[in-house]
Amino acid sequence: MGSYHPECPDRLDAINDRLISSGIEGHLVRHTAPPAEREQLERAHSADYIDALEAASPEEGLHYIDPDTALNPHSLDAARHGAGAVVLATDLVLRGDCSRAFCAVRPPGHHAERGRAMGFCIFNNVAVGALHAIEAYGLERVAIVDFDVHHGNGTEHIFTGDDRVLMVGTFQHPLYPYSGFDTKERNMVNVPLSAGSGSDAFRAAVTNKWLPALEAHAPELIIISAGFDAHREDPLASLRFTEADYAWVTRTLVEVANRHAKGRIVSSLEGGYNLSALGRSATEHVRELLAS
Ligand SMILES: [Zn+2]
Repeated sequence: MGSYHPECPDRLDAINDRLISSGIEGHLVRHTAPPAEREQLERAHSADYIDALEAASPEEGLHYIDPDTALNPHSLDAARHGAGAVVLATDLVLRGDCSRAFCAVRPPGHHAERGRAMGFCIFNNVAVGALHAIEAYGLERVAIVDFDVHHGNGTEHIFTGDDRVLMVGTFQHPLYPYSGFDTKERNMVNVPLSAGSGSDAFRAAVTNKWLPALEAHAPELIIISAGFDAHREDPLASLRFTEADYAWVTRTLVEVANRHAKGRIVSSLEGGYNLSALGRSATEHVRELLAS
């Protein structure tokens, strides 16, 4: 996205370094993400949009889609592999090869709408995964959980009014993209949090708002938009979560998955821009995903 940009390749190095130094790496099975197929992307995005991205992809330099979101000659390929990671992870858990998977992918996805890239996001990775689970495996109920500090407007745009998918989320408000705080759709459970909110507000939102909705929906698969930019050290926002909060919410979601979804969780990286905090938080998240 340009050398100044917080959504940078170092983010994945920070996660990988911390997985290794924590000793968790040895407990993981690694897979290389294939590119998502056109048919898989078209479940979440319009054909016109994908055509326009292909036409805009530059042979050199950067093409700016919006002031925050650029394509270099490799971006579209990376975005295809990002969405493909979530498709592969969904295949692995629904075939029973494993019960949980974490996709360390860039670019993130949750701001991408059906026909619009924005906020560093090109393809909506979790939406592509959820629709793969529904259309290729016949799942009737999927839950998408989004604890990124920014509202997952793209995911909401794609699934609003679609009762097969329950979306629960917390996000700082007001903050980019300034949406979601007044959503009334019954399959959208949005909990805006004011700047400065920390563990207590987050855990109350999860306990009082998310969990009753998740229990009622009884999802057959949980997909997580795992953004770690609500961490107190993150430079892009002003919530005050800690890695202990990410461990707690992951453990809580594993319990929901064990009750309703045969333990199945697919998690995909969204934001998180302080490299040390991102590495620590993602590692605690993965540690809890590994627990039974
Ligand atoms: Zn974010």
